[in-house]
Amino acid sequence: DHRLPRPSERRIITVANQKGGVGKTTSTVNLAAALSLHGARVLVVDLDPQGNASTALGVDHRSGTPSIYEVLLGEMTIDEAAAVCERSEDLLCVPATIDLAGSEIELVSMLNRESRLKNALTTEALDRLDVDYVLIDCPPSLGLLTLNAMVAAPEVLIPIQCEYYALEGLSQLLNNIALVQSHLNPGLHVSTILLTMYDGRTKLADQVTSEVRNHFGEVVLRTVIPRSVKVSEAPGFGQTVLTYDPGSRGAMSYLDAAREFAARTMVRRQPEGEGAR
Ligand code: ADP
Ligand code: MG
Repeated sequence: DHRLPRPSERRIITVANQKGGVGKTTSTVNLAAALSLHGARVLVVDLDPQGNASTALGVDHRSGTPSIYEVLLGEMTIDEAAAVCERSEDLLCVPATIDLAGSEIELVSMLNRESRLKNALTTEALDRLDVDYVLIDCPPSLGLLTLNAMVAAPEVLIPIQCEYYALEGLSQLLNNIALVQSHLNPGLHVSTILLTMYDGRTKLADQVTSEVRNHFGEVVLRTVIPRSVKVSEAPGFGQTVLTYDPGSRGAMSYLDAAREFAARTMVRRQPEGEGAR
């Protein structure tokens, strides 16, 4: 039995890294599915016009479907746009349609252009959905959509690929987080780094892993996500690896990562320095 007690406080987490293909979407949907298997209710907000998270969760995201686009425009509340995932009633998704592609430009002239997602994630709307976690999947850029995500959440989760150039661009991301923190969202912090696509056969993977751990310390989850074909196949079936192949290494690693991630919250809720692992 995977069940954990439901967390007493709601957590909102932005999954960001302006590099494409590092595992943002994969980590968002699989962590979300794993957290829901652990007994939590989870909302995934797809903030990438590609709609990959919506696809992976098996949620309709054809143009015209209620989506995050209407929410950002203020035409719909977040709970009105949320769809329940077919395979788990405790997993919800606000999909992204291709309509979102123009929003980086449309948002520019709007009032509160950087706070539109934050304003949509009201306690009332999230209470109606009764969710414990909100995971926001960002596009591979540091534009207005990612900025909206960073303003809307106190936590940032950064997936890092155990590959060449993994750390490239990371200082730019951290600079952006620091800027948002000082100007728009004082509570913003990197709460979690998740190492993904680890290939144990390569020396490089271990080098990247230890470099990241030396640099970021205990923010880095101990669980590392292995490179696995099952993980990459699952979205093609509108599924997370948790239902596609529950016994696979990929599924087990996301369950472990989610458990660790959930447990840390409880640690972090105590005053700084107390109860640290
Ligand atoms: P991002 O959202 O950062 O662009 P994705 O999550 O879409 O990155 O991942 C990029 C590609 O890598 C996808 O094709 C995905 O299926 C694949 N991938 C992600 N994680 C793994 C993994 N652990 N093992 C194998 N393939 C993976
Ligand atoms: Mg993605």
